[in-house]
Amino acid sequence: MLRDILDKGIATITPREREAITNRHVNITVVQPFDYGLLLRIAGLLAVLAGVWFYWSMRIRTINASLRESERSKSLLIANLPGVAYRCRFDRDWTMEFVSEGCFKLTGYPSEALLYNQKVAYNDLIHPEDRERVWEGWQAASAQRTPVQLEYRLIAATQREKWIFEQGAFVCDEAGQIQALEGLLIDITDRKQAEEEVYRISIHDDLTGIYNRRYIFERLEKLMKEYERNCRDFAIALIDLDFFKKINDTYGHQGGDYVLQQFAQLLSSSCRPYDLVGRYGGEEFIVIALNLDHEAMAQLMKRVRERLDEQTCIFEGQRITVTFSAGIAASSEAGVGFSSEALVSQADKRLYDAKELGRNRII
Ligand code: GH3
Ligand code: MG
Ligand code: MG
Repeated sequence: MLRDILDKGIATITPREREAITNRHVNITVVQPFDYGLLLRIAGLLAVLAGVWFYWSMRIRTINASLRESERSKSLLIANLPGVAYRCRFDRDWTMEFVSEGCFKLTGYPSEALLYNQKVAYNDLIHPEDRERVWEGWQAASAQRTPVQLEYRLIAATQREKWIFEQGAFVCDEAGQIQALEGLLIDITDRKQAEEEVYRISIHDDLTGIYNRRYIFERLEKLMKEYERNCRDFAIALIDLDFFKKINDTYGHQGGDYVLQQFAQLLSSSCRPYDLVGRYGGEEFIVIALNLDHEAMAQLMKRVRERLDEQTCIFEGQRITVTFSAGIAASSEAGVGFSSEALVSQADKRLYDAKELGRNRII
């Protein structure tokens, strides 16, 4: 009976209510399918980011390494330069903004002393006679911003004079305005000394040490031109030792050489420091004396003759006596266009006359 009642009761429940009751007692878990695509996209993005980061860190590391290497080799290069690398302002002091280590070796001052003129301005180190030339050299180049090459003297801290070769350039901004000067200073003192020595040798006579014929003629040419322009007087004397062949024959070639050396010394010491004394040929000499006329030059030659008489020339224990003949000419004899050769040949004629008249005389 109870069952029938329950069945009737159940029969009144609608299928929807029945499902609701069933659902109240049965757990249903809805499992959504997992979205692996999104995960892959995020992972992909992260991988790309990691790749980019890795690539850039590698690149930066490589760039830093090459930068360090470049800085190292630049410092090494600058430290080993045979001089000084600099950057300075284009001002009268040449105010230094950078000076490499070589500064001390070159100038005797540490780099810091020159930086921003702290102890000394670079301009003060330049030889006073060369300062204007250096300034003008840069000034002239500044119009076209052309590189500059200059040779001038520096006075080092020890007061020693040094020759410098400077190679520099203008550093300009985009508008072309000069920002600074950069360049190199190289010590060329040794080269200059060698050049001076070569030049000294080239204008002097080996045996006697007085000027050689070529140099004397060069100077004579200039004096002649100066005489034409300013009437600056000078006189010349051509001197030839008498019977020199006999001296060679008697005392040998070395005895002859010794006499030539002694005579050259006597001649030089008899003249004023600004007169020119040279060897004209074998046993022939020439004197060019500024601001002297014929008479004054003749007096000078007489003085030489007196000194030669007084001097005793001893070679290997033997006393050698020697005399000379001289022909004198003066610039006052020269008309316009009168050449140095013509003046010398005038003196040569008089020397020939002196020989003809018996030697040991001055005409
Ligand atoms: P004069 O009075 O006419 O001038 O006679 P001289 O003997 O002096 O002149 P000459 O021209 O006959 O001889 C000059 C000599 O000078 C001949 C030459 O061998 C010699 N001589 C030239 N150069 C040198 C030199 O460098 N050393 C020596 N020892 N002798 C030289
Ligand atoms: Mg002669
Ligand atoms: Mg002679």
